[in-house]
Amino acid sequence: MFMDPHIHMSSRTTDDYQAMKNAGIRVVIEPAFWQGQSRNHVGSFDDYFLSLMGWERFRASQFGIRHYCTLGMNPKEVNRADLVEGVMSLLKRYLARESVLAVGEIGYDDMTDAEEHFFAMQLELAKTYNLPALVHLPHRDKHKGTQRTIDIIRDVGIADDWVLIDHNTEDTLPLVLDTGCWAGHSIYPDTKMDEGRMVELVKRYGPSRIVINSAADWGVSDPLKVPKTAQAMREAGIDDETIKMITWDNPVSFFTKSGRVTREELETPLVVDQRQQWEGNSILRGQMPQVDA
Ligand SMILES: [Zn+2]
Repeated sequence: MFMDPHIHMSSRTTDDYQAMKNAGIRVVIEPAFWQGQSRNHVGSFDDYFLSLMGWERFRASQFGIRHYCTLGMNPKEVNRADLVEGVMSLLKRYLARESVLAVGEIGYDDMTDAEEHFFAMQLELAKTYNLPALVHLPHRDKHKGTQRTIDIIRDVGIADDWVLIDHNTEDTLPLVLDTGCWAGHSIYPDTKMDEGRMVELVKRYGPSRIVINSAADWGVSDPLKVPKTAQAMREAGIDDETIKMITWDNPVSFFTKSGRVTREELETPLVVDQRQQWEGNSILRGQMPQVDA
């Protein structure tokens, strides 16, 4: 049983859902992010947030996968002064919803003043709503970005273990493990972090507060990277208990801090009934529905 705690399913196909289910993925967390290009209207964020809590969640359920989301305004878009206030009010409305398990993904991109301001404000929102925060590290200038990220977390005063810092590398992981924050790793094809490098990190640092995800989106990425990395760890002689901690227990411990879902609920298999509809729409296009007994 695996969780992929960072994957953008809105950009993936039903084949992906089926393959993920077959590979043992039972729970996904979909963080709100940009859409490959900037949105130009507050209403676009509104409909996107609603789809993460609505249709996408339903779509996952039709393949036996529990879907939750995190909501936030990503740093690539906080530089749009004409949109941020509107999006912040949407967050204040939707962060109370049951399927939202954290604020995120938030953090730095170019490390501008606007990014810093709204990063801090959204960490404050996490405190207000008693939610954990999913923070991603910038892809450029990562070492400095990690230090500044940790500084902001300390300035705002959100507890370290309520923050998951994602997209770590060999360079940033020691900095994050020195704090009480959780450390996420996005396993991509050929770049940033791969299965072999992740195996080495686990051998070196152990499984405590370590999380892995696929961060799959519209780009070249692989929604099966969590089970594939588990397999690589098994082949490298890492014990089952360690693998289970990284691919299930750790993300479960982190996201159940929200108080909106229990470990027991996450571990209960979802009964599939593809005759179901969401706002009158089904995932089927005339096919025979799969209905679990
Ligand atoms: Zn992401």
